[in-house]
Amino acid sequence: MKRDTICVQGGWQPKKGEPRIVPIYQSTTFKYDNSEQMARLFDLEDSGYFYSRLQNPTVDAVAAKITALEGGVAGMLMSSGQAANLYAIMNICQAGDHFVSSAAIYGGTYNLFAVTLKKFGVDVTFVSADASEEEIQAAFQPNTKALFGETISNPGVEVLDIEMYARIAHRNGVPLIVDNTFATPINCRPFEWGADIVTHSTTKYMDGHATAVGGALIDSGNFDWEAHAEKYPGLTQPDESYHGLTYTKAFGKGAFITKATAQLMRDLGSSMAPQNAFLLNLGLETLHLRVPRHCSNAQAVAEWLAARPEVAWIHYPGLKGDKFYDLAQKQLPDGSCGVIAFGLKGSREDAIAFMDRLKFISIVTHVADARSCVLHPASHTHRQLSDDQLREAGVAPDLIRLSVGIEDLSDIIADLAQALDK
Ligand SMILES: *Cc1c(COP(=O)(O)O)cnc(C)c1O
Repeated sequence: MKRDTICVQGGWQPKKGEPRIVPIYQSTTFKYDNSEQMARLFDLEDSGYFYSRLQNPTVDAVAAKITALEGGVAGMLMSSGQAANLYAIMNICQAGDHFVSSAAIYGGTYNLFAVTLKKFGVDVTFVSADASEEEIQAAFQPNTKALFGETISNPGVEVLDIEMYARIAHRNGVPLIVDNTFATPINCRPFEWGADIVTHSTTKYMDGHATAVGGALIDSGNFDWEAHAEKYPGLTQPDESYHGLTYTKAFGKGAFITKATAQLMRDLGSSMAPQNAFLLNLGLETLHLRVPRHCSNAQAVAEWLAARPEVAWIHYPGLKGDKFYDLAQKQLPDGSCGVIAFGLKGSREDAIAFMDRLKFISIVTHVADARSCVLHPASHTHRQLSDDQLREAGVAPDLIRLSVGIEDLSDIIADLAQALDK
């Protein structure tokens, strides 16, 4: 099936007499006929459902749709985008390990990496969004296990050179993990540029209607764990918590996702509720229609803002002259996303006054849904970060993040115009 058909039809193919729409399997548990059948499931010798913390049919159907959209071999959903990035790293790193990350990432991910994972004994080195191949290479250590970045960073809208990142990761024998939340598989499929693992906050464009927090983790199946077996004992050595089963031997290309489900989801329990998977699926059914509209609206708004005298600076990858314009033309030829970062001339108070005067473009701690919204990261999402960390994450103190929705373009511009005029 083509991408647009997967959005509508993927993941759930009912048989005779079954519901046309993926049902909400609102059940924690599943029935078997005898103890032996259940025991085989616990030993991972049979596949089947037994407890919804590990797997649930509604959640799996939607995971299969996202996996197909990304062109992966296996995928899983979680309770949030935060959980997806946590599992992506913890599935291959343990205390004493290290990974390298672009600093141009979501503030919550930055905190997870810089503060919380450090407490778990997993260390990170950040490299700036415009770091050269040599600078990124220099961040690698003998205990480095992964390279991480965002296709388009939140909120800086900086574009990751996935091909270059993949080249560096593979030269060092580690996988490239890419958070593809802002681009979505409609505008970019990171596996096609060499990424090995993709994560999502499905809370954003995929859900698209701001109804359910969620995350996704998808494996391309391309990274050869066995070729670097000494680095990835969790995947290539027997798991004592599963009777000495070795994931790469037992599950081949499914090893990464099986381990993340059987071990991390079992122990950490960040599962997605079936009801939320159902809502996410409704969003996915129109993803291919909404994303182009977000992009065409944002392109027009960015061009309009760039011409306004009150605007001090603006970042949007679709603007000619933007630092990432050429890279976006190559990697995101159909458009980037609906998010624009800009600053106003004047003080921080002027920026806040501008946002307060907006009418239907509301101030919310959210981004990338059907309704236009705005946020001042330094005062809101990123307020835990110091000024240095802010700059490292590509967030200027005066940065306004405008998430352009799918309303009528002239109404969006009229709202911005009245707030700027005042
Ligand atoms: C929002 C976001 C996250 C975190 O996702 P939640 O669903 O809010 O936990 C991770 N990465 C990116 C790029 C995001 O925009």
